[in-house]
Amino acid sequence: MALDWCPFAIRRPITGENYTVGRGGQRVRAVVVHIAAGPLSAVFPTFNDPTRKASAHFCVGKDGTIEQYVSVNDTAYANGLAWKDNQWHNPRGKPVKPTWQDLSPPVNPNLYTLSIEHEGYPADPWTPAMYDANNRLLLWLAEQFDLTYVPHRTLIGHLEIDPLDKADCPGPHVEYERMARDVTALVAAKKLAWMPINTDGALYKFAQAHALGYPQTDEFAFAFEQGVYLAQVFNGGIVYAPKGDWANTRWIEKPRPSARGFFDWLARLGIGARRTPAAAPREEGTMQFDPRLTDLGISVTENPGGTWDLRVAKYQDPNESGGKHHIFFTVLDATGKPNAGVTCVVDWVGREPGDVPTVVVTDAQGEANVPIFANLNTTLKNGPYFAYVESESKSDVVRGMGLPEKHHVNFLLTFGAATSSVTPQPPPSGTIEDAVIAAAKQHVWMPINTDAALYKFAQAKNLGYPQTDEFEFPVGAETYIGQVFNLGIVYVKKGDWGNVRWVNKPTS
Ligand SMILES: [Zn+2]
Repeated sequence: MALDWCPFAIRRPITGENYTVGRGGQRVRAVVVHIAAGPLSAVFPTFNDPTRKASAHFCVGKDGTIEQYVSVNDTAYANGLAWKDNQWHNPRGKPVKPTWQDLSPPVNPNLYTLSIEHEGYPADPWTPAMYDANNRLLLWLAEQFDLTYVPHRTLIGHLEIDPLDKADCPGPHVEYERMARDVTALVAAKKLAWMPINTDGALYKFAQAHALGYPQTDEFAFAFEQGVYLAQVFNGGIVYAPKGDWANTRWIEKPRPSARGFFDWLARLGIGARRTPAAAPREEGTMQFDPRLTDLGISVTENPGGTWDLRVAKYQDPNESGGKHHIFFTVLDATGKPNAGVTCVVDWVGREPGDVPTVVVTDAQGEANVPIFANLNTTLKNGPYFAYVESESKSDVVRGMGLPEKHHVNFLLTFGAATSSVTPQPPPSGTIEDAVIAAAKQHVWMPINTDAALYKFAQAKNLGYPQTDEFEFPVGAETYIGQVFNLGIVYVKKGDWGNVRWVNKPTS
């Protein structure tokens, strides 16, 4: 059962004449957005007037004030319809044809909806403070009633219930899609542990003074000999100090990530591999392969002992290819960084003995590309091109590429250096540095993904450093990727990397 009263709303209970206790056994299935058509100050007196027979659960003011008039477990009188003669009638008794598809006749929708009024008039754009407060309230309601917001299903306007008399409630400026996305991002973000912001901490200040980047862990304590130390991992090193003796703050380099052991260690710590735009997955043995490639008869010959693993194979169809007709290579080293100066080869079935395969070399971004021209018959699935890195014996090979019925398409292939099976040697023990590193390895390190779209967007908006890794969440049928930063939550629809958005963090 939900809490009756929202803890961050101003509680203004109204007369019992204007609501019904309980919900008649109905479960809340939607939040209905309204416009008050007046100032916030007029809302309580109206709902408290026993002759009005009207109420809503909440009203949000233009300054972000939230008032609550009726317990969310009780039935407010904001969205009423009556079912008679096999149709819905609005409170004026006029027959209406609601567009909301989740009505269940003959039950009055007041019993299964929540209602939020908003200060002002239908033509008023919402203030940012009103928008943020409304998001906070939607977030709280989502948690109370386990609601997932889907525009026009679980998040609707009054006009979707009464299109006759309430056609301008709540008005044209209400951004249902944005609200649903934003609040869904907030719900997903709240499920994660956020790294605390401690920009006043001595270790943080030391790290900034030494240009060591942003924190990857919170501060943690460890014991060495007789003393207690505090330490914190930053991008550029691990900072530590005897507790309280901040003048003696020092830093050391992080253990060098190279071999397979490093990836095992990351996996053990639960560190994600996501990165926007999706670069190489860092786990071994995983490959992202666009299913449309399989449909076109394109396949991979894996080379388990080889140097170059195919990590990602993406397809850009004629609508996505921008008129190009290329195989695009991205080559990464074992740590996922761009690998420059690597040879990439495009060869083709039926090559004349006198011809040579096309060879290109990756640039500083680890990228190279080759235009292709030959047809791929989509029935025969006979694309002639095959591609690999360095040599066929050292690389996974992607086979069967070509231009489907001569349409311009692209193949985006990301190869990564296979990680060696060498286990890193543990450092010699006994020094303070060993103790720092051993203690640091007990904590989850937030990945550094300063090349990622979300990180870059956050920096451009001055949102501070990340407090979580990137995380995925669904909005309707779409997958989004989000990340919490000091001053906001940044998110993007998967694949739509140019369209990053952000939402204020809830302040409660
Ligand atoms: Zn209304």
